[in-house]
Amino acid sequence: MRPRGARVGSAARERAKRIRDTGIPEEVNVRSKAFLARGGASRGSFLALTTREADLSALSDWFGSGRLVPVNDIAVDLGTANTLVYVKGEGIVLNEPSVVAVNKGSKRIMGIGLEAKRMLGRTPEGIEAIRPLKDGVIADVDITELMLRHFLKEVTKKRIFRIKPRVVVGVPSGITELERRAVRSSAMSAGAKAVYMVDEPMAAAIGVGLPVETPTGNMVIDIGGGTTEIAVIALSGIVSNTSIRVGGDELDRAIVTFLRKNYNLLIGEPTSEAIKIQIGSAFDFGEEREMDVKGRDLVSGIPKTVKVHSQEVRECIQEPIQAIVEAVRRALEITPPELSADIVDRGIVMTGGGALIRGLDRLLYHETNLPIHVDDEPLTCVVRGAGRILDDLHKYRTVLVP
Ligand code: ADP
Ligand code: MG
Repeated sequence: MRPRGARVGSAARERAKRIRDTGIPEEVNVRSKAFLARGGASRGSFLALTTREADLSALSDWFGSGRLVPVNDIAVDLGTANTLVYVKGEGIVLNEPSVVAVNKGSKRIMGIGLEAKRMLGRTPEGIEAIRPLKDGVIADVDITELMLRHFLKEVTKKRIFRIKPRVVVGVPSGITELERRAVRSSAMSAGAKAVYMVDEPMAAAIGVGLPVETPTGNMVIDIGGGTTEIAVIALSGIVSNTSIRVGGDELDRAIVTFLRKNYNLLIGEPTSEAIKIQIGSAFDFGEEREMDVKGRDLVSGIPKTVKVHSQEVRECIQEPIQAIVEAVRRALEITPPELSADIVDRGIVMTGGGALIRGLDRLLYHETNLPIHVDDEPLTCVVRGAGRILDDLHKYRTVLVP
């Protein structure tokens, strides 16, 4: 079909046929005249395009927004702390906290994602910032559904052309049938054509680039906000999985308690997270730091600042850190011996935001004598893995959760 109203030659007609044969959405053709007019791109360069991919990405480059290209394939990491969305051909387009602010009385949604996280600890009476996936399970199915739908809509709404995308969602391993159904229905109601689910540790392993389909055993430790999951993977399956409800958030809570008890200082979650990230550590590697921490004096009620030392932070987070170490030990104990041998050779890979706690890799090495690798971008492993699954659904079909 010739772009309606566009003055084009036989080459263009041929191209139009090619487009039809390769299945490019009709609108790309119909609107081609408008493309040319608005973008000022020459007809020559328009005609020069050959493959479907080149067509779409070049068009999007011309107009600088990427909004003309429909979203075909979407990967989602539905984490307890952060939700990430990856669009094929574009990369990670959304990375927001898994937080929803709700008015307690009217149940009205006041904000989702970053906006809602900013309200954490600052919410006026009556507004509650909910983390619907707290503790690694879907604690609030309705709010999770709403949040997922909102993020997916965010990604697709700006597009001029829409086709129903395929969506792969990384979900906490061990979610129930009911929770799976909620994830599926929210993705469908956000316009998905098909929804596939994958256990997060499996997605993380694929994201890291581990050869999950081979018989070789690989161990992944994924430390998120609410949970730590330790999985041994071989032949496209999770051979053993150890999951504890201790993650980065637990460290934040330990810091809040410590400052309250030792300095009479009240602080909120965002402040304790900042302390953890800036001066927190799991192992003494001879590099101490200090930080000024502001909060409210428990006794006088007046704001004050105290100096906090990294050594005391390390001590106060010992308990949750030890819980993680213990879980790794247990996971190693229940690993079939043949796979243990592989892990001795290949070591363990750490993913998730918690993998960034300074010195945790050294502590785990110290405790297990196994090589520990931290992925370069631990916060994006799951979504990258889910993205790879989309790229080759056939190869990865066996890793998908039914
Ligand atoms: P989830 O998969 O549960 O959404 P993430 O993998 O996104 O979790 O990790 C979030 C956790 O990682 C939070 O507890 C956050 O405080 C922690 N985190 C993020 N960056 C760092 C860092 N640089 N150092 C220590 N902890 C970090
Ligand atoms: Mg995660």
